[in-house]
Amino acid sequence: MKEKLKLFRYYLDRKYNYKFKSRDALEKFQKDKFNEHIKYVIEKSVFYREYYKGYNINNLSSLPCIDKKIMMENFDSLNTVGLNKDECFEVAFKAENSRDFSPMINGNIIGLSSGTSGNRGLFIISEEDKSKWTGTILAKALKESILRKQKVAFFLRANSNLYESVKSNHIKFEFFDLLLPLQEHVKRLNEYKPTFLVAPPSMLILLAKEIEGYKLKISPKIIYSVAEILEDKDKEYLEKVFNKKIHQIYQATEGFLGITCEYGNLHLNEDFVIFEREYIDEKRFYPIITDFERKTQPIIRYKLNDILIEKKEKCPCGSVNTCIEKVEGRSDDIFKFINKKEEEVTIFPDFIRRAIISSSEEIISYQALQESLTDVEIYIEIDEKVDMELIQENIRLSLDLLFEKYHIEKINITFRDTLVFLQGNKLRRISSKVLYIEEKLDMQNVFQ
Ligand SMILES: [Zn+2]
Repeated sequence: MKEKLKLFRYYLDRKYNYKFKSRDALEKFQKDKFNEHIKYVIEKSVFYREYYKGYNINNLSSLPCIDKKIMMENFDSLNTVGLNKDECFEVAFKAENSRDFSPMINGNIIGLSSGTSGNRGLFIISEEDKSKWTGTILAKALKESILRKQKVAFFLRANSNLYESVKSNHIKFEFFDLLLPLQEHVKRLNEYKPTFLVAPPSMLILLAKEIEGYKLKISPKIIYSVAEILEDKDKEYLEKVFNKKIHQIYQATEGFLGITCEYGNLHLNEDFVIFEREYIDEKRFYPIITDFERKTQPIIRYKLNDILIEKKEKCPCGSVNTCIEKVEGRSDDIFKFINKKEEEVTIFPDFIRRAIISSSEEIISYQALQESLTDVEIYIEIDEKVDMELIQENIRLSLDLLFEKYHIEKINITFRDTLVFLQGNKLRRISSKVLYIEEKLDMQNVFQ
């Protein structure tokens, strides 16, 4: 009960106390909060204390950055509750394999991020962090009163005590395991009739198809796309079938980073995370995040490899929090080639996407995978009545034109019949297996 009260306090606080009149007011607030937070971090985290030796800790942008690698290598000395990496991994893996998602150590929730094996991240969330997270997500995501009854259907690769904590007298919560067969989900959803649906877009699409086939009969009031990139084309399709705005939550292992407002625009959660920007071009950037509320596993100047595109126009909702056009992809979704002058060139996912989509209005779904420095594989789904060869030819021309612009020698474009997508994994429509190109590295491909 005490915990619920605490959560409700966080909810009210977040809902009503974080409206900033101007960007300046927000930035001043961030600065004050950071100065307070960093004192705590220096006192409690051995890693940060050592890492910032000789730096002025109140000058955020002068401090050295960290990334996932540094965080994981220094896991034990970075966290402020004395947890040990091996022990955490053991507990987290056990939970994932048994699919009983309640791993805790000393009252802290242990979570495992998705990723290739050997590259997985661990997160620790204390009881306090949890109440804060839950209050915050309810305040930002509900879009209507917390006293309205909700039935949440939550699809994800793994459940967690963290997500379960949104449960209350008014809010029911059911976890749907992405690894289970679709037909089971359809049956359960038909009985449960959720009012609030949260799922990766690849699952939302499967569900939408079931609705179109009259097998699934649900009409949630609020729908959130999570965990994967929501492509414009998929968003359009989903909004048509569900007859609702598709909202988005931008959440990473590193924290709850953004959410769409009532206008459907994605705002960064700058009321508790500072986003510095490492610009890639005039509107694309990699965020460097500093969460000034997370105490157990402090995230200070942490470089994410997500590519964000900022939106220049102001949002009519009046929020001064930065508006994001979209999360374009991760740095490893960028296509990498060698041009005629033997220089490395990178092409952002959006350009590949546009080259494909603009080739024909008949493309329902697509995927582009860079297999090597010289090979790209494309998958497209089209209406049966349309001439596949013609569309493939158009895509080839359109991509050739794009590569030409970058002075890239001819790339082999082949077409495959199936979408590459492993159930339970993230669907990536644009992805590259070429991780990086070392200088003069006899043009070999480096595979994941
Ligand atoms: Zn807005």
